[in-house]
Amino acid sequence: MADGTIIADEALREEVRAWLADNWKGLERSRPTPGGAGWTTTPEHRDWLAKVVEARWAVPRWPIEWFGRGLSDAQARIVEREFAAVGAPGTGQDRSNLWANTALAFATPTFKAKIVPLLLRSEVAMCLLYSEPGAGSDLAGVRTRADRQGDHFVVNGQKVWTSGAATADYGMLIARTDWDAPKHSGISFFFLPMKQPGVEVRPLRQITDESHFNEVFITDAVVPAENLLGPLNGGWRVLQTALAYERSVMGEGARGPRSGVRESVGEEPLIALAREAGVLSDPLIRQEIAKVIAWKRLNALNTARAKADLGQGTSSPVMSLGKLAMSRILHEEARVRTLILGPESLLEGPNHPRAEDANFLTLNAYFTSIGGGTDQIQRNIIGERVLGLPKEPEVDRDVPFRQVRGN
Ligand SMILES: Cc1cc2nc3c(=O)[nH]c(=O)nc-3n(C[C@H](O)[C@H](O)[C@H](O)COP(=O)(O)OP(=O)(O)OC[C@H]3O[C@@H](n4cnc5c(N)ncnc54)[C@H](O)[C@@H]3O)c2cc1C
Repeated sequence: MADGTIIADEALREEVRAWLADNWKGLERSRPTPGGAGWTTTPEHRDWLAKVVEARWAVPRWPIEWFGRGLSDAQARIVEREFAAVGAPGTGQDRSNLWANTALAFATPTFKAKIVPLLLRSEVAMCLLYSEPGAGSDLAGVRTRADRQGDHFVVNGQKVWTSGAATADYGMLIARTDWDAPKHSGISFFFLPMKQPGVEVRPLRQITDESHFNEVFITDAVVPAENLLGPLNGGWRVLQTALAYERSVMGEGARGPRSGVRESVGEEPLIALAREAGVLSDPLIRQEIAKVIAWKRLNALNTARAKADLGQGTSSPVMSLGKLAMSRILHEEARVRTLILGPESLLEGPNHPRAEDANFLTLNAYFTSIGGGTDQIQRNIIGERVLGLPKEPEVDRDVPFRQVRGN
């Protein structure tokens, strides 16, 4: 222990352990909201988060003046490992809380002081108001407009595929604020208050028979000027950072089965399923399971590398690699589940939870291959920004947006 870092690490580990021993008593699991509109945090969960924030474990990498401890990535991981060891949530939000990270990097001081603690304590629900009927992969083509009027902006337009909009308090909104600038340079980024008369949310039904995402119609909605993130017309850069955080979260995993059947902790779910189904000694099944596990491990290492690249307010194209890999892994994992179950996978319903899970996971894998930017778009990003290949031609890139065809 001659090395000072090792002693500091050990002291930190002891401090977290002691704090968890004094404070962590376990939590009831969060429950889905009625109507399947999403997941809600319970008051008990929020009380726990408030304690974690107050004790400065929520965002240990952040500066001290912003609820953090200014720890290095390696030390913050010590905190995360101790929380994980007892199953306590709430730390690591400096990596995973895309809303709070985006606000910390770009919000005005007044708005930051108001919103960041609420976000860390999950006291406000959020959604992403990016995609529009005519702007998905090409987000720079958004036509929703925000016009300045005194101390606020008035917003008009339509968004679509907005996950969680039905329960959200705020939406992170991209809207056009300059129609004479080229398309990437006339966009601004706002925190739009959702609970106001000008915001109408209509649910959409998904292939999984759930309704997590929505259409959002915005008519003369008002957003205070202090809710602008980054400079006016500088929203594209804010968006890149927010998207990188989103991709990093999606690159780490996705929802598990929905049957409510608990999967054995610590054991790879595919191995447990194959054992239960009596096919664990089948050489073909073993080979397929091994392939999925190898990909998962490799992706975890790659995601850790990408996160190390992601300083405050920057974006890493390597996140796209993790998200693309996770999309492939989820499809493969679902295929191997189906292979393990054989004809049983044709069944459905509460009496056949294993088949229900296999089918749900097969359909839900598309969430990761489309949401947060499609697989094809991640490939473009990797090609252009990681491998340095020539850019796709973009004929409308330098043209004032007003003159782009369709406007
Ligand atoms: C489960 C889910 C949740 C979502 N949640 C949200 C949300 O909360 N907020 C939000 O704003 N959006 C959300 N989305 C929308 C999502 O971000 C868009 O669907 C996605 O970006 C694709 O846009 P699009 O649907 O308009 O498809 P398009 O952009 O029209 O693409 C159609 C097809 O063309 C391909 N394509 C397009 N451009 C290129 C190109 N340049 N090179 C190669 N191929 C290309 C695409 O890969 C795709 O296969 C969600 C989507 C899903 C599936």
